[in-house]
Amino acid sequence: MSALVRPSPIASVCVVRKHISHVRSTTVPSASSNDAPKLIFVSSVASGHDLEGHPECAARVPAILKELEKGQLLGTHRPQDVMELTGVELAPKSALEGVHTKNYATGLELLCGTRAPVNLDTAPTYCTTSTYADAMRGAGAAIALVDEVCDRSKKGLTPSGFGLVRPPGHHATPRGAMGFCLVGNAAVAARHAQKRGHERVMIFDYDVHHGNGTNDIFHSDLSVLFVSTHEDGSYPGTGKFTDVGSDEGIGATINIPLPPGSGDKAVLTAFEEVVMPGAARFKPDFIIVSAGYDAHWRDPLAGLTFRSGTYHRLCTKLKELANELCEGRIVFLLEGGYDLIGLSEGVADSFRALVGDDSTDFGDIPGLRDEPEEKVRKILNEVKAVHQI
Ligand SMILES: [Zn+2]
Repeated sequence: MSALVRPSPIASVCVVRKHISHVRSTTVPSASSNDAPKLIFVSSVASGHDLEGHPECAARVPAILKELEKGQLLGTHRPQDVMELTGVELAPKSALEGVHTKNYATGLELLCGTRAPVNLDTAPTYCTTSTYADAMRGAGAAIALVDEVCDRSKKGLTPSGFGLVRPPGHHATPRGAMGFCLVGNAAVAARHAQKRGHERVMIFDYDVHHGNGTNDIFHSDLSVLFVSTHEDGSYPGTGKFTDVGSDEGIGATINIPLPPGSGDKAVLTAFEEVVMPGAARFKPDFIIVSAGYDAHWRDPLAGLTFRSGTYHRLCTKLKELANELCEGRIVFLLEGGYDLIGLSEGVADSFRALVGDDSTDFGDIPGLRDEPEEKVRKILNEVKAVHQI
């Protein structure tokens, strides 16, 4: 590697970082000044991190923004309720090293700078020349949202945070990239919330896939409660209910693998019977949500049957939980979601929930299967028994 003398993309990344290092995150109200928005969001499109034909593509965030625009859910339409945070900095390397090994942090930057485009696994998790900077910008957005929620919370005005970030992060393990994920954004956010004095952090992951990376990063850490609902048997095959953490962290990992076909009723029952009492027992100071939209019935990569309104109900309950347990401090970070209609409608209904609007998803959806109620009951009983909930 040292023999390479041509200017590499790493150099450009460094220049960009140096250039923006003095730039503070700024909150830019779209229409008029507003000190108390209900929702603050960041959009990090990552247009350079793209691969033709890949489901985790650069069209995802623009599709969401288009739907938010259509639903009049952006600050231009709702200056009193919604605010976009712009000018977000890249995450510092120390944030990456707080959740991943030093070798991975250094190796990822080198790889993107010298070998891209390259695939890092068979998923495939791909790297382009801009991937390192894009991933660090996504993690930087997570940090900026935590800061914004913390700062406003001190004044008694606590908005929800929502990061429309990519690439996603919850499969990235302590040692490396995996499953379209490069940097554990939710893990970075959790560590940053702790740095800001909120020692007990709960991460709730409603992506259809098990967030094995987040699971592993905090496996033996009693200060972070990781709770995941996911489709049993889907990628990467981890997240059995018997995985409850290890060593000092035993009990602070709650895995709820839902049988294929589970939908609105299953996940909301799981939320009420397991997630809420588990959270109440843990008493978090901050809640981070790994917000994946691939459990939507339209999604091509998995087999749960959430509808857009399911996300509205989940987000409403999560905000209520945050209000009840930690003065409303909650930040959502985008993970998966690969059908652009299901993804964008799911996020839009999440935004509606967080600003207090009703869901626009109603009526029957032809073809949705009946939920496997007996199997759901069995797994929920098993989860509750193992965690003594
Ligand atoms: Zn997923």
